[in-house]
Amino acid sequence: MGLAKTRGDGLGFASVRRIVVKLGSAVIAPGGRLDEEAIVRLAGDMATSDREVVVVSSGAVASGFRALGLEAMPRSIVQKQAAAAVGQQRLMAAWAGAFQKHGRVVAQVLLTADDLDDRARHLNARRTLEALLAAGVIPIINENDSVSYAEIKLGDNDRLSALVAGLVGADLLVILSSIDGVYEQGDGKRVIAWIENIGAARRHIRAGTSEVGTGGMATKLDAAEIAVEAGAHVVIARGAQDRVLARILGGEALGTHFPAAGRGVGARRRWIGRSTRVRGTIVVDEGCGSALTERGASLLPSGVVGVEGEFGEGACVAVRYKDGRVLARGLTSYSSGEIRRLRGKKSADIERTLGYCYREEIIHRDDLVLTAGSKGERS
Ligand code: GLU
Repeated sequence: MGLAKTRGDGLGFASVRRIVVKLGSAVIAPGGRLDEEAIVRLAGDMATSDREVVVVSSGAVASGFRALGLEAMPRSIVQKQAAAAVGQQRLMAAWAGAFQKHGRVVAQVLLTADDLDDRARHLNARRTLEALLAAGVIPIINENDSVSYAEIKLGDNDRLSALVAGLVGADLLVILSSIDGVYEQGDGKRVIAWIENIGAARRHIRAGTSEVGTGGMATKLDAAEIAVEAGAHVVIARGAQDRVLARILGGEALGTHFPAAGRGVGARRRWIGRSTRVRGTIVVDEGCGSALTERGASLLPSGVVGVEGEFGEGACVAVRYKDGRVLARGLTSYSSGEIRRLRGKKSADIERTLGYCYREEIIHRDDLVLTAGSKGERS
């Protein structure tokens, strides 16, 4: 983590073609009343952005509950569902009117977790969204709250927006809410401009003593992680700012920016995480383990204390400590026999030992996925 020198591709987000913009309930319906002015302002910002835009809009429950005679956001699922059924059409009317001022047509797409899990429905949703975008229509997505019961509920639109970013292959996900970004620990007011290591950021936030405002942040970091791995940049910023999207696209350092993982790397790491064909194990010492989990380092020969199984270079292997705790999975650059010969050596000695040096790492960090439940980051 540190301050960003440049954003996006270095020229702002000049090469970003497709954006998913997620608007939180606090932006759309603060205090349980639809903020039509905010919707008009945001629609203007999106319509004039000159990019393909997919909107994920919350606020169905928030803009509907008062019509049911309730004074506060309902807690029970059934009341939320009823409120959403009222609020969703109000939400759409507001979006349709706001985009119409710019001659743009909107479409309502309501999804559930099931729709995104099921392969056929997932492809269907993607085709629909592609067709809408090709026609210049702006999809306005929300969870299908009025029919989503607990078991099939995604729960929050941060996660939905990240899944949608992956679904449509967006280059950028902008999450606009009532916070300025990810706050530094301490006075809680300074925003971290640039986060590359989401695992470290998560630990940092959860380690904080104040619980205020961190509940929503955890889900935002989870969402950022999903989108970044899918190859999208993510920006979390305050939605109430003037021309917020235009300024982000112009490269202004608003909010917190999570740079996209290389698309190739993201796909490869997801595959490693899912692969069940683990061919062997590399045993590492504590120092190496913490370099992998805390610092996002590559696995070097010096940290290797043992090798189990026979495998060739490029195999998917598990990485564990001597006591059996598994911490990662990765693709090895060398075969099991070669790694046995390199065990405990410096990278500089690889060539002398093997007669050639393919690369300095046994497993490069781009080919390494930390295992959920290890003390480090999750991917
Ligand atoms: N789908 C919910 C709504 O529109 C919002 C969920 C969320 O805010 O994350 O009311």
